[in-house]
Amino acid sequence: MKNFPVFIHALSRALARKPFFISHLITGRCNCRCLTCKWRNTMPDGGFTGIINFYRQARNLGFYATTLWGGEPLLREDILEIVKEIKKLGFKTGLITNGYLLSEKVAVTDYLDFLIVSIDAPGKKLDEIRGIDGLYQRIIDGIGHQRCKRIMINTVVSDFSYPECLKTIDLARQYNAVIFFEYPSGKMLISKETARDAFRRILRMKEMGYPVGNSKRYLTSAMSGNFYYSCRAHDISITIDNAGFLKNCITGRVIGNVYKENLAEVLNRSEYQILKNLSRHCHFCTDSGAFESSRTARLKIDAILNSLRLFAGRISKIY
Ligand code: SF4
Ligand code: SF4
Repeated sequence: MKNFPVFIHALSRALARKPFFISHLITGRCNCRCLTCKWRNTMPDGGFTGIINFYRQARNLGFYATTLWGGEPLLREDILEIVKEIKKLGFKTGLITNGYLLSEKVAVTDYLDFLIVSIDAPGKKLDEIRGIDGLYQRIIDGIGHQRCKRIMINTVVSDFSYPECLKTIDLARQYNAVIFFEYPSGKMLISKETARDAFRRILRMKEMGYPVGNSKRYLTSAMSGNFYYSCRAHDISITIDNAGFLKNCITGRVIGNVYKENLAEVLNRSEYQILKNLSRHCHFCTDSGAFESSRTARLKIDAILNSLRLFAGRISKIY
């Protein structure tokens, strides 16, 4: 349990409302063409120097964990250098990938504390959803090569992916990975019937001992499509986009650009404080990250135990 002190420190920072985690959309480019994508964009990505300068400041302010995502982070030509530098600064570092380039960029996985592969369905169905032929087979080859010890699978349940999406659980078992099932961002993407049937089946699998990482509370919320929680995501994390902008996710207003401005000054701006206060009345997001981290920050015991087990890398029992 060598990560236990880290977890306690993280929890105490969250209670003090001092974020320690960076959710970092490191590129807006992606080689996939999912019809439902909200993240791919044509804004120019930040350069290496601005990114590393931001991480140096973040480390000095007490941040110590990050997840790089996109777009497709492995598309960046300098992704290996970025990950190496971030690790040198002492960050726990994770990366979320669509898996297409896992074999080519296998060296990146040497430096990761965790790797999350997005797989919404097995086989041809995934190729269809992502609009790219041969993707699923490349993921399978790539997972076989990668060298990160902690793999997680992320599966979005929607009318596009159900019922095939439930079969990704077999992959999770095969690779000793935790799997997170996600309610899609947007109720238009899932019918009430699909949500009820899919998440009921997932809950049953969890109760049977399958390595489902979502809390039971998340799964029952997803069954009904009603996510009533008080968002505390901003007590734990900041979200930076590929051009370096930190935004108020409720109003859409820009708080600052962390690639170009001093991070401490950006975090002291009134708009950021407004966001932290407003967010407590918001429960717009349906992803497990916002939901579970908010419940952890509110000291809900099942969420704390889940986070602790994920921090500690033990997946034998997930609540
Ligand atoms: S893989 Fe992700 S970032 Fe890429 S198009 Fe699909 S949803 Fe968007
Ligand atoms: S639930 Fe609301 S405040 Fe929290 S991350 Fe989502 S939009 Fe922002």
